[in-house]
Amino acid sequence: MYWADDFAQQIIKSGKHQPYWADDMKTPSGRIHVGSLRGIISHDLIYKALLDAGKSATLSYVIENQDPMDGLPIYLDKKKYQQYMGQPLWSIPSPKSGYKSYADYFAQDFIEIVNALGAKPKIIYGLDLYRSGKMNQGIKQVLDAASKIRQLYKKISGSAKPADWYPLQVICPKCGKIGTTKVTGWDGEKVSFKCLPALVKWAQGCGHEGKISPFNGNGKVPWKIEWALKWQAVGITIEGAGKDHMTEGGSHDIASAICRQVINYPVPFHFSHEFLLIGGRKMSSSRGLGSSAREMYNLLPPAILRFLLVRPRYNRAIDFDPGSYTIPDLFDTYDHCAVEFYRYGRKSDLGRIFELSQVKKPPPKKTFYPRFREVAQYLQMPKVNLTQHFETEKGKSLTITEKKILAERVHYAEIWLRDHAPKEEVFSVSQTLSQAVAELNQKQKDYLLKVAQLLAKDWSKPEEFQQALYDASKSLDLPAQKAFTAIYIVLLGKTHGPKAAWLLLDQDRKAMIQRLKKVAGGKKFDVLAETRALRKELSRLNPNFDSVKALREVRKEI
Ligand SMILES: [Zn+2]
Repeated sequence: MYWADDFAQQIIKSGKHQPYWADDMKTPSGRIHVGSLRGIISHDLIYKALLDAGKSATLSYVIENQDPMDGLPIYLDKKKYQQYMGQPLWSIPSPKSGYKSYADYFAQDFIEIVNALGAKPKIIYGLDLYRSGKMNQGIKQVLDAASKIRQLYKKISGSAKPADWYPLQVICPKCGKIGTTKVTGWDGEKVSFKCLPALVKWAQGCGHEGKISPFNGNGKVPWKIEWALKWQAVGITIEGAGKDHMTEGGSHDIASAICRQVINYPVPFHFSHEFLLIGGRKMSSSRGLGSSAREMYNLLPPAILRFLLVRPRYNRAIDFDPGSYTIPDLFDTYDHCAVEFYRYGRKSDLGRIFELSQVKKPPPKKTFYPRFREVAQYLQMPKVNLTQHFETEKGKSLTITEKKILAERVHYAEIWLRDHAPKEEVFSVSQTLSQAVAELNQKQKDYLLKVAQLLAKDWSKPEEFQQALYDASKSLDLPAQKAFTAIYIVLLGKTHGPKAAWLLLDQDRKAMIQRLKKVAGGKKFDVLAETRALRKELSRLNPNFDSVKALREVRKEI
């Protein structure tokens, strides 16, 4: 059984975790790393598995815009943004106009991608949770239990909090920073606080101190405790996290202890998911360059990107390196899962994976998927009509859906060829002959001459020309692979390439014939014997044939 279906069954059978409300959270501290897609898609899968099991369920995504800016992404203007360090992300201006805030800009960008991948979570902003008063009850509970929470920290994570530590930071009314304040007392209505110049290395407080209500958005609870409070405020019953949060003594252990011992809220159904790495690296979303969700989204069609996340079990790491053949292989595996789906439906795990990889519904039965690497090859031959080519391969005309899939694959194949394909996949007919020509043996040269002769004929169907190329190698007793290698060396300077007939027909015919002959010309060629044969053939067809003129023509040709 597919893991998300298995989880859904466990959740249903347990009788706990109702109403079914799955959630994931993210701090929009900069361009959101592609790895963050793993969390939200994993939750989307459990949510969809619950729906498919006939249950009603909700999926939400909390954007933690009340978190402070604690690092500057390197792609931002340091001069402009340095001053905002320590402020809540919702209060910092957007790098681009048209967005309410810094947080809003990066969150919108990510949500757009999440939606394009077929996940439509209800978006909840952390600030709204605080301002609406939904967090007030929890804030009061944890402030009242400050001393108990200090003990819990000590016991669970070994971290010793000083006796004047309170689980809250307020927004300094003077300088607007939240990362620099320290709460030093709580009288049941207001907290006393100081805005400290040296509380953290990344931001400087203004020195202001005073008393303020901790409620309605004036402050925020530290992350590990806040997690539990948000479960309570929203009513979340299902929430896992990346394995970094699920270690022993880590965030999840603290949040669970807060649930059980402070706020009396049931710990949601949880699981620890693995990371999505790019070329072996887990990159920081706030500081790292590259590998943002947006960049990945530009590289793969939505269903394929979703498939990348859906296919492995949640607890298997995904290491995606866009170079080499990763992308064509991914398309191939997807197409294979499509076949499984149309054959066995959900009964097959691969079929179920295909179904869950769809942004909407799976395409109609027996949809023809043009193979990605073939699309990439023929794309490089401008004279090949791709629709016609794949219609021939399918044996029928392409449906509208299939044409859309083809168009989509053309788009992504162009990107792959431009940015990630291994050099040998990028074919361009070389202007000059490659050195490798010298390696061709006599039989291969004989073959090239035959190819030149065949190419001079009219070929309306490339398949027939391809067959003729095979037959020619056979007639010379030359293994087909060696024969075709000869063609590729002459045209591309490489030992392999796309189907030779299409490649040859796509070029300037005369120039190609000349080139083939030039390479083949290194051999002794019995012109007279050829001419005699030709004259005989022509005389047979036309008794009045001018053999002298024909001889001259043949010489010119050769
Ligand atoms: Zn201040």
